[in-house]
Amino acid sequence: MEKTDILSMEKDTLCGYMKSVGEAPFRGKQIFGWLHMKMVKDFSEMTNLSKSLRQKLDENACIKGLKYIKKYKSSADETIKYLFETEKGYIIESVLMKYSYGYTVCVSTQAGCRMGCSFCASTIGGLESNLTAGEIASQIYEIEKQENIRVSRVVMMGCGEPLDNFSNSVAFINIISDSDGAGISKRKITLSTCGLTDKIYELAELDLPITLAISLHAPNDSIRRSIMPVAKKYSIDEVMKAAKDYSSETGRRITFEYALIDGVNDSVENAEELAARLRGILAHVNLIPVNPVEERGYKKSSENNIRLFSNILTARSVENTVRRRLGTDIDAACGQLRKSFKEH
Ligand code: SF4
Repeated sequence: MEKTDILSMEKDTLCGYMKSVGEAPFRGKQIFGWLHMKMVKDFSEMTNLSKSLRQKLDENACIKGLKYIKKYKSSADETIKYLFETEKGYIIESVLMKYSYGYTVCVSTQAGCRMGCSFCASTIGGLESNLTAGEIASQIYEIEKQENIRVSRVVMMGCGEPLDNFSNSVAFINIISDSDGAGISKRKITLSTCGLTDKIYELAELDLPITLAISLHAPNDSIRRSIMPVAKKYSIDEVMKAAKDYSSETGRRITFEYALIDGVNDSVENAEELAARLRGILAHVNLIPVNPVEERGYKKSSENNIRLFSNILTARSVENTVRRRLGTDIDAACGQLRKSFKEH
């Protein structure tokens, strides 16, 4: 019989599990603390549990974490990229970024991705596997242990589409923000989606005070469809409607990600059209000079075009930031390192 993965259980579920195996529910809270606050990987280390309980857990449950493979430090800044292996042998990547306000980890939610965005290396081999909530959380724990740091912010922007792995992504958010565990405030968690509209409505219903980032990358359907297959299913109008709904349900400002690709979506007209689209939405735009992906032949916009694009949005009262590019010398863009690791 397959063992139960307790690392992926939210605290209440873990308390319920303990009850179901004939133990006091509060044991679940104790075990949750060992797993998500003290980050232990073995039942034998849970010293306030009796020996017989530890043995029982060993026989029936498991802690499905990650194996560290390798890390790459950027020489240009303090960004570090990590490769981990899941128990099933999938390679995933995570990034640690240091900002003036603390440490942020960018986690992957899937090994690979099936969304097919044409500027992204993560999707080239398709979707390999969904990650469990425990595997998503373990990326943070492994990094914290390695670097002896505390991570204060999380962005779900690594490989994979979090809303295509909905229940595990939501369980991860509840686990990582639990004050009996890592206690990272939900307000400091950003979930990035390519715009799975149905799932955005589902997420809004949960009323989690996280930040929603929508990868828009185009001001109209024809450009968006040429670079993002998901746009064939959901029009920009539908995405904007879902974004407005999310913002009014949660009171949170929406972040729109916009990768500037030379000659594709970075013209003056594109900027004007984008500004018009965002009128009336509580929004912030992150302009991201696209990371070159060899297979796709995309180049990042010129500095001049980036500045012009940003200035037009500002002039139209659309808040925006040109995102600092971290760790470009270590393939820090989504999916690039994992891909080059697998190729060598
Ligand atoms: S950008 Fe995100 S959603 Fe699109 S293919 Fe890459 S990982 Fe998937």
